[in-house]
Amino acid sequence: MHQSAPRRILVTSALPYANGHIHLGHLVEYIQTDIYVRFQKLRGHQAVYVCADDTHGTAIMLRAKAEGRREQEVIADMQRAHQADFAGFQVAFDHYGSTDSPTNRRLCGEIWESLRAAGLVVSREVQQLFDPQAGVFLADRFVKGTCPKCGAADQYGDSCEACGATYSPADLLDARSTLSGCVPEVRSAEHLFVEIEQKHEFLEEWTQRSGALAPPIANYLAGHFLGEPLRDWDISRPAPYFGFEIPDFPGHYWYVWFDAPIGYVAATAEWAEAQGESLDAWWRPTADDTPVEIHHFIGKDITYFHTLFWPAMLESAGLRLPTGVHVHGFLTVNGQKMSKSRGTFILASTWLEHVDAEMLRYFYASKIAGGIDDIDLDLDDFLAKSNADIVGKIVNLASRTVRWLAETGLSPTYPDDGGLFARAAAEGDEIAAAYEAGDLARAMRTIMQAADRANAFVDERQPWKLAKAGPDAAGELQDVASIAVNLFRQLMVYLAPVVPALAEEASALVGGPIDSWSQSQTPLAGCPVSPFRPLKARVTSEQIAAVLAASQQPETSSPTPGAPMDDTPQPTADQASADSPAPLAAEPLAEQCTIDDFVKVDLRVARVIAAEEVAEARKLLKLTVSLGGDATRTIFAGIKGHHDPASLVGRLVVVVANLAPRQMKFGLSEGMVVAASGEGASGVYLISPESGALPGMRLR
Ligand SMILES: [Zn+2]
Repeated sequence: MHQSAPRRILVTSALPYANGHIHLGHLVEYIQTDIYVRFQKLRGHQAVYVCADDTHGTAIMLRAKAEGRREQEVIADMQRAHQADFAGFQVAFDHYGSTDSPTNRRLCGEIWESLRAAGLVVSREVQQLFDPQAGVFLADRFVKGTCPKCGAADQYGDSCEACGATYSPADLLDARSTLSGCVPEVRSAEHLFVEIEQKHEFLEEWTQRSGALAPPIANYLAGHFLGEPLRDWDISRPAPYFGFEIPDFPGHYWYVWFDAPIGYVAATAEWAEAQGESLDAWWRPTADDTPVEIHHFIGKDITYFHTLFWPAMLESAGLRLPTGVHVHGFLTVNGQKMSKSRGTFILASTWLEHVDAEMLRYFYASKIAGGIDDIDLDLDDFLAKSNADIVGKIVNLASRTVRWLAETGLSPTYPDDGGLFARAAAEGDEIAAAYEAGDLARAMRTIMQAADRANAFVDERQPWKLAKAGPDAAGELQDVASIAVNLFRQLMVYLAPVVPALAEEASALVGGPIDSWSQSQTPLAGCPVSPFRPLKARVTSEQIAAVLAASQQPETSSPTPGAPMDDTPQPTADQASADSPAPLAAEPLAEQCTIDDFVKVDLRVARVIAAEEVAEARKLLKLTVSLGGDATRTIFAGIKGHHDPASLVGRLVVVVANLAPRQMKFGLSEGMVVAASGEGASGVYLISPESGALPGMRLR
């Protein structure tokens, strides 16, 4: 098989947002990107896979506030969790960065300069929505209402899931804040815009004729956006905002969608620096250099950003344009949207606790055909197919033949197999073409058909009977087993991008490391074979049931703002049994009470809207909390020293709302904030409801 000069291929997946954990829906993208990269490396190309956590925006700012921590602590924790999940699924980045990095800040500044120099940035007063209860300007994802274009209800403030239109949140009909539920106020603020319409002609050409986009995507852009002037892109947000402050517009920050894709370049820069490579060689086009390909893998929901804004930014900055933007669909589980109440909103970490990660990699590969159709994880189908194909066809081929070779090794010359090896070798180009096109389903079908032929050969030649036939049949036994083991190894070369750990196990059995696609083309002869050991166990229905049980939780009535992938990890039984008995022992339970006693105490969710220290008091903070609407209370809480007042503002707490008011030296206290503390323990821990709870809700 002829291979041309190595290609240089830079590959990215969309940056996961730091507000939530990785779930099985995200993995559709990371697994297919990882398979693509591993395939290219196996083919001998220089493929580099970079990614980063997407860290900025209002959602992170509010989350940090709610947790009483700095944003940097929140995003560092989440990045560790993301990277552990990716490692568990063998998603192998060459570099994994963060958009909150000095490199990204520097590159944002450079690209910003180029947009300014090109005359693309204009300033305009805009009406922005402000949540008077939470005291913040509302990011797009914190406003919901009716789409101004198609009339679909319950749409976010940046784009419509029904018709794909993008707009400003102030354009929404019936807008309301998802933070407090209140009707947002319209306030005037100066914003900077990128006049992307100036790039219309370029975008028309690039989207329709560069070949970077599949025809359905190109047609979608032509039909929905390019037929009319492109809307200016609102690129700045006034403080408070967690992000990079715009150097020439103090008090204002780049919108998270500006610095997130630049994170691709920043991650490349960090990788290049560590490797002694040049960033420019990868991102700056020059007349005579080696061609570099840039491939972005994204979900269909962020097509607009990656096919219009991003190329416009790159072109203005004189950077290389994407060779391919690979757009995929979403994941359904058992035919429906992932659901917390059905237990099908499955976190990566939950899966890893119970089920083999590679079996999911294989199952996804068997479903991903390279288009924008959603793929379905039918769990019965998963169980049947992954066991039948990976265990029944691939592993079984080795497990029922390898044992006969432990003493003799492979036959000294490859025996006549009736053309089986040669036929599967000849299919290598077809399998490679399917991988290249992202049609993993076709690649897997072709591989499994070859596996069927190999198993039929073993069934027909029955090595277990030859083994019983004694010394006369020993030569034939070695030949039959040598053929089967060679066919197994050939299949493992083809499957190595999909099931890398299994490929490594297989290589320890016979033939050494699988590091080149060309190893599928030549059979091995005369080499030793290690004693058999089990390569992979079947997935059981008990394991699947355990995943569903661990993922089961009540559906929250209102969705978590800005966090479609929310998120709180479920405590495991192991964690619970490791908890110390000391606090309960130190403070035994109070005397039994009745439900009537309990309902006398009216506990409500409240939002802290102001917090200040009481200078004269050692322990007290003066809090103003909102119970929704106009209902506010002043509460003096004994939590000074444990909480920074500024970090409490915006946070949800629980208050005793019907406590008799109490006149204190510093003023009237109209309730009590609930917190946990223990005898002899130092901390005072405020109690917060799950995301989605609203001020004024009663605890019962
Ligand atoms: Zn719409």
